[in-house]
Amino acid sequence: MKDRPLLMIPGPIEFDPDVIKSMNQPGKGHVSPDFIEVFGQAIQQMRKVWMCPSGQPFIIAGSGTLAMDMAAANLIEAGEKALVISTGYFSDRFAELLTRYGADVTMIAGPLGHVPDIEKIEAEMNKNEYKLLTLTHVDTSTAVRIDPEPFGKLGRKYGTITVLDGVCSVAGEEIRQERWDIDVVLTASQKALGVPAGLALMIVSSYAMERFRSRETAVGNYYVDWNNWLPVMNAYESGKPSYFGTPPVNLVYALKKSLDQILEEGMETRFERHRKLAAAVRSALKALGIDQLPENDEIAANTLSAPRYPTGIEGARFLQEVNKAGAILAGGLHPEIKNEYFRIGHMGTVSRGDILVTIGAIETGLLKCGIDFREGSGIKAASEIFNT
Ligand SMILES: *Cc1c(COP(=O)(O)O)cnc(C)c1O
Repeated sequence: MKDRPLLMIPGPIEFDPDVIKSMNQPGKGHVSPDFIEVFGQAIQQMRKVWMCPSGQPFIIAGSGTLAMDMAAANLIEAGEKALVISTGYFSDRFAELLTRYGADVTMIAGPLGHVPDIEKIEAEMNKNEYKLLTLTHVDTSTAVRIDPEPFGKLGRKYGTITVLDGVCSVAGEEIRQERWDIDVVLTASQKALGVPAGLALMIVSSYAMERFRSRETAVGNYYVDWNNWLPVMNAYESGKPSYFGTPPVNLVYALKKSLDQILEEGMETRFERHRKLAAAVRSALKALGIDQLPENDEIAANTLSAPRYPTGIEGARFLQEVNKAGAILAGGLHPEIKNEYFRIGHMGTVSRGDILVTIGAIETGLLKCGIDFREGSGIKAASEIFNT
């Protein structure tokens, strides 16, 4: 009997058993011929998943925050201007992090749950010369999704390097890095890629690499310096081992397996699957009379949802009841409204069945907490989306 609740938080997610099994590699070192091949293939497959055939991938041990750190440390020098587009907690983290490297940071944020006006952003870029612009594809604290495409074009127009925090979007939301001219797209293994936590991943455009090479000062962080990692990535891709810091061998096996599965599903199919799952979740919540944090469905993420608690409910108790009924959900994260909403992850391996279990568990939670709603209406609404 499978007697554990489904893990439906925005990362780590439920892992595919074959991905987990692929990590079982006892006695495999970082210079074993088998590992060299797997590492090299993972690097090449990333370009297909990111849709960035000419970019430079990096696979490093660390979490998503390390990927953000790596982008910032390598691309900004003290005194240079950075523009941070904020849609929540993780965007704000980028501002904080850039400040550590001496960047002169300007932040543009809309009201909570909104995407700031692009006209306002362009006006700012026109007024001041920015070296770097960061934006969060899906801010996991608000479930607000930004369309990154126009930002790549803006970056080219003003000679600004664009960095997309795709930790909650890569391999879930539509990303066409090269066509959209986004310079850096970074992520972590435990979100839509469906690999246990521990890998920081990114692809860097040739434009950003050029700007990196023309730095005047040394990178202020030893571990993430691209000068240390570039030779390692190049070596493994060309079938040779190389060393700077020990690579997370077993996690790279898991990454390779997951990238196999992602490419087998196909990127377009995968984007569409996430859109459909998200539409079903939103439709179910609406039927249950539950509001969401993002202003409207057009800017709502397809990898997670951020519903507001119904009035009169005690959040912690509700989540506990939902857990007992079969689904683990996450609480709020944004410091301003932490206790007013919760989060449902629906990325990676998530299936229609998982969504129905989750909605069913939410209905049970509402019932146990004495909330008035039409029983079964959430399940019905989600099924209707699946059947269209
Ligand atoms: C999870 C997340 C991060 C941080 O990743 P960690 O692996 O927890 O360090 C950064 N940005 C976004 C958008 C995220 O969802």
